Amino acid sequence: MDINKDDQLIKASELVRTSRVGVHSHIRGLGLTDELDPRPVSNGLVGQLRARKAAGYIVRMVKDGKVTGRAVLLAGQPGTGKTAIAMAIAKEMGEGTPATLMSASEIFSPEMSTAEALTQAIRRSVGIRIKEETEIIEGEVVEVTIERPATTSGAKAGRLTLKTTEMETIYDLGGKMIESIIKENIAAGDIITIDKATGRIAKLGRSFTRARDYDAQGAQTRFIQTPEGELQKRKEVTHMVSLHDIDVINSRQQGFLALFSGDTGEIKQEIRDQINQKVAEWKEEGKAEIVPGILFIDEVHMLTIECFAFLNRALESDNAPIVIMATNRGITKIRGTNELSPHGMPMDLLDRTLIIMTEPYSEADIKQILQIRCEEEDASVTEEALNALAELAKSTSLRYVMQLIMVAKVLCRRRKATEINTEDISRSYRLFSDERRSEEWLNRLSDQFLF
Ligand code: ATP
Repeated sequence: MDINKDDQLIKASELVRTSRVGVHSHIRGLGLTDELDPRPVSNGLVGQLRARKAAGYIVRMVKDGKVTGRAVLLAGQPGTGKTAIAMAIAKEMGEGTPATLMSASEIFSPEMSTAEALTQAIRRSVGIRIKEETEIIEGEVVEVTIERPATTSGAKAGRLTLKTTEMETIYDLGGKMIESIIKENIAAGDIITIDKATGRIAKLGRSFTRARDYDAQGAQTRFIQTPEGELQKRKEVTHMVSLHDIDVINSRQQGFLALFSGDTGEIKQEIRDQINQKVAEWKEEGKAEIVPGILFIDEVHMLTIECFAFLNRALESDNAPIVIMATNRGITKIRGTNELSPHGMPMDLLDRTLIIMTEPYSEADIKQILQIRCEEEDASVTEEALNALAELAKSTSLRYVMQLIMVAKVLCRRRKATEINTEDISRSYRLFSDERRSEEWLNRLSDQFLF
């Protein structure tokens, strides 16, 4: 694919190298001191001091195990860092606490009811720490190779060879998704542990976002001891799985492979009841610990009144996760009703929600955020071009301008320069429309579109 515009030909291959940087990849935490005071610029976050401090208290409370089943709402104008702060909260919680990040529109799908989708999201956000006696192997990754057997069709299967200084492990992979999970998460130099019994790679054994992100647990594993090393064994380890993982694994219809495809379908209530009972028994016997985590629902105004009612009820149950919601809506209709309400949320839920407001950024903050993004995307930029970007963000949006950095970087490279200048910015701006210009254009040509 080539993008041929503005007398330049940009090859897709040139874009690929930069496009892997996620929009929030620069966020590494909330950037707070031990006293929960926000540092002005830290961990990739800029400004929003009050909101970050408040978020810090939430993290502290969850970590101390003091609260479950609370609701928090991040409210503020578009592009004021609500999702960024939610990401930072998830990072601060660490791998020991499950965090599910989703957009409200994901609740609506032809495959399952909204109640089921919400239940799955909630149960993904509750961790079960299981203590087990097992042998684990620890070592530094020397090499990760992925090959596909010639006999398989398309991307259905593959083989992973993971070499550590201690041993060589071969996994039969279940699909393309697992391959990409491994590629993105394991690299030479990493220290990893592998559970000898299950083949679970500890580095990937975190409960984060969706089922897709789980590791190759359950994949067939062979251990080959290399001559260089002895297998290192340890006795007691803990595993973290989510309630949803246990549901899926025990749902005979789906089986554990559904964990990797994310295609779990609906799960019967009787299975969930049995699992709840089993988990309660494990807890009683000291074999497991329940860890309520975080469920983040972005664009929460997209939920209908039924979904809100369901959430409200779910928050009351034991071991419910903390539900963090975000919205950029003011007073608007609650979906499914004609009722106006702040943030499009019903009052009874708002009433029990801690609200954190995000504020519009100053020009200096915007410039600082853009500077951080340029560093994240490995793009050098002149002071003048950075000012131009900040200026442009005022008339368009921060998010739009952030996207231009990637394009400007490619244009800059095309002219064999190392620093993005104002001309690169202005050409990127001409190449790609922002929301306002696109709307103006549509309005102008409205009679030529179908309605
Ligand atoms: P919306 O209401 O449109 O969903 P939002 O409030 O969730 O917007 P974000 O998506 O968090 O806004 O912010 C837009 C972009 O700016 C993201 O790439 C985000 O990482 C970055 N960003 C926003 N605020 C900050 C900040 N304070 N520090 C660093 N980066 C930020």
